[in-house]
Amino acid sequence: MRILVVEDEKKVSSFIKRGLEEERYEVDTAFNGEEGLKMALEKGYDLVILDVMLPKKDGLSVVRDLRERRNAIPVLMLTAKDSVEDIVAGLDSGSDDYLTKPFAFAELLARVRALVRRSEQDRGAEIRFADLRLDPVTHKVWRKDKEIDLTAKEYALLEYFMRNPNQVLTRTMIAEHVWDYTFDSFTNIIDVYVNYLRKKIDREADKKLIHTVRGVGYILKEEE
Ligand code: CA
Repeated sequence: MRILVVEDEKKVSSFIKRGLEEERYEVDTAFNGEEGLKMALEKGYDLVILDVMLPKKDGLSVVRDLRERRNAIPVLMLTAKDSVEDIVAGLDSGSDDYLTKPFAFAELLARVRALVRRSEQDRGAEIRFADLRLDPVTHKVWRKDKEIDLTAKEYALLEYFMRNPNQVLTRTMIAEHVWDYTFDSFTNIIDVYVNYLRKKIDREADKKLIHTVRGVGYILKEEE
């Protein structure tokens, strides 16, 4: 378990680091928001403990940036005040839990354990179809253990297919679910996106998974 602590107050930071290391967590520290964001994006942490008041970039902006980049890493926010507004702002920005300073280490540890447990359960919710694997938390996709790089729309399209396998999906259904509205005169945008997706998913594979149902739409299925 690797934890990133982003806190500019050296005393608080080393107090948290020491305590967590005694509990056998691996801990890295960052002392401003920019550094924290960079480390959180580049290294695979299991949890970030993030102070709200930070130099260079405040904690709320760090969480917002992480979530905008579809990074789902659990975040425990440290707030100085226990005002309802601060707490709401923290949770709205995309953090998972908060703790008000000053706090007892036992309470921090309890929150850390709960968040790590919760994210482990989420991670189990992978979707599989044939040799395709999709992780709805990180938005990563693999075919036969080879990671496939998809754009946001291609990902949304594939997730829709994988949640509805072996069913004919009409262009209207796809438009409504993936684009949130219906295209009247130019449903060919769906064909274009399905073809992008096919190139990435099926082109190099011996078994094709996305099939055209002539005049109707598409189906995700294994060939008989
Ligand atoms: Ca601070």
